[in-house]
Amino acid sequence: MNQKRHTSPDRRREQHKPQVSKAPRVAFDGARLIIQAGREKSLLRRHPWVFSGAIERIEGKPASGDTVQLCDAQGGFLAWAAYNPQSQICARAWSWQGDEKIDANFFRRKITGALNARRDLKLAQHSNGMRLIHGESDGLPGLIVDQYADVLVLQLGSAGTERWRETFADILQELCNPVCIYERSDSDGRELEGLEIRNAVLRGALPENLSITENGVRIAVDVAAGQKTGFYLDQRDNRAQIGALAEGRDVLNCFCYTGGFSLYALRGGAKSVLSIDASAEALQLAQCNVALNGLDAGRAEWLDADVFAALRKLRDQNRKFDLIILDPPKFAPTAAFAEKAARGYKDINLLGFKLLRPGGLLATYSCSGGISDDLFQKIIAGAALDAGVDAQIVSRVHAAADHPVLLSFPEGAYLKGLVLRVAN
Ligand code: SAH
Repeated sequence: MNQKRHTSPDRRREQHKPQVSKAPRVAFDGARLIIQAGREKSLLRRHPWVFSGAIERIEGKPASGDTVQLCDAQGGFLAWAAYNPQSQICARAWSWQGDEKIDANFFRRKITGALNARRDLKLAQHSNGMRLIHGESDGLPGLIVDQYADVLVLQLGSAGTERWRETFADILQELCNPVCIYERSDSDGRELEGLEIRNAVLRGALPENLSITENGVRIAVDVAAGQKTGFYLDQRDNRAQIGALAEGRDVLNCFCYTGGFSLYALRGGAKSVLSIDASAEALQLAQCNVALNGLDAGRAEWLDADVFAALRKLRDQNRKFDLIILDPPKFAPTAAFAEKAARGYKDINLLGFKLLRPGGLLATYSCSGGISDDLFQKIIAGAALDAGVDAQIVSRVHAAADHPVLLSFPEGAYLKGLVLRVAN
C-alpha cells in the first residue's frame, strides 16, 4: 500500500537531484534525436536499438538512413546512429564515441575488425563457408555478410545499412577480393523497415555451381534461391557433433533443408538416414550433396512432407530410431510469439521422444529469438514427461563462433540446442 516505505534512501536522493546531463554536448550539423529522460539507459549500456516510443523530439529533418546524433534529455551526446522513420526501431547505433565520424573509414575499420576476429579464431580451418559479419553482434546493426567459398552474400536489414550499400561492396571487394558479391536483401525484416526487396548480383558474376567444404563435407549452396543467404552456417559445429555420434544408428533428420545433418550422419557411418523437409528444392539439392560427397545413397531416404504430420505417421507405423534431429524454422521471432511457438516445440519433441529406441539420442534445436535457453529446456522437459521417458541433457549447444553474441546485445543469442539421451 505505502509505496514510499519501499523507496530506498539512495533512490530518494536521486529523485531530488537536479537533472543535469553528465554527457558533454558534441557539435553536429545534422539532425538530433532527443531521448526521453530515463529511456537513455539501454544506450548507456550500449544496446544499439532505439524504439520510436523513446524519442522525446527530433531536431532537424533527418531522412531514412541518415546519420543522426542521439542525445539525452539535456542535449548530452549518447551515440551516433542511423535513422529510420518507418521502423519501430527508429535508430540503430553505429558508435558511442563523440569524436567518431561515420564514413567509409569507420566502416572499413569495423569490417576489418570482424574479419580479424574470424581469422584469430582460425575458423577458416573448418570451412570456407562462414559468417563474416553478424550484424549487431559485430557492431554493424542490420548488416549480414556470409562467405561461400569465393562468393560473398550481403544482406541489408536496416535503412542505415541500405544507405552505405555501395561503400560496403567497395570495402568487401578490397578486403576479400571475391569473384562475386551477391545481394540477398529479401529477409522478412526488410518490409518492417520499409525497404524494398532485392535479390541480385551486386558485383562480379555468380559462378554456376557454388559449393563450400565444411569439416570436409561438400555442400552445394544456392545463394540466389536458397533459404537465408543460401545455407544455415550457424549449425556447423552441431552438425559435426552429430556426425561423430551417428555410427551404426538409424537416424531421423527432421527439417533437413539441403541435408546438412544427414550428410554428416551418413559420413559418420549411420546405418540409415531418413530426412524430412517440406521444400522440394531443398531435398533435390540434398540428394545432389550425397552424390557430391560420394556417399552411399542406399542408406538415405528422403521425404517431402510436413514434419508435424510425418512424425505422427511414423509413430502410427511404430517406426523407431536411435538418433533424431529436430531443427525447425523459427517458430517465435519475438517473445510475443513464445506461447504458440512453445506448443509447436512441445509437439515435435514429444513425438521425437516417442520414436526413440531406449538409449537413443535426441538433438533438438530452436532458432527462435523469442524462446530463451531456460524456456526451451522447460518445454523439452514437459515433452519428455508427457512422452513417458526419462532423458538426460548430455550437451548444451549454441551457434558456431562466426555467430558471436555481443554481451550488450543478448538478442544475438537466438540459436540454442540440447542433445539428450533417453534411458535404456
Ligand atoms: N538443419 C538444416 C536447417 C533447417 S532450416 C541445416 O542444417 O542446414 C528449417 C527447414 O525446415 C527448412 O528447410 C524448411 O524448408 C523446413 N520446414 C519448415 N516448415 C516445415 C514443416 N512444417 N515441415 C517440414 N519442413 C519444414
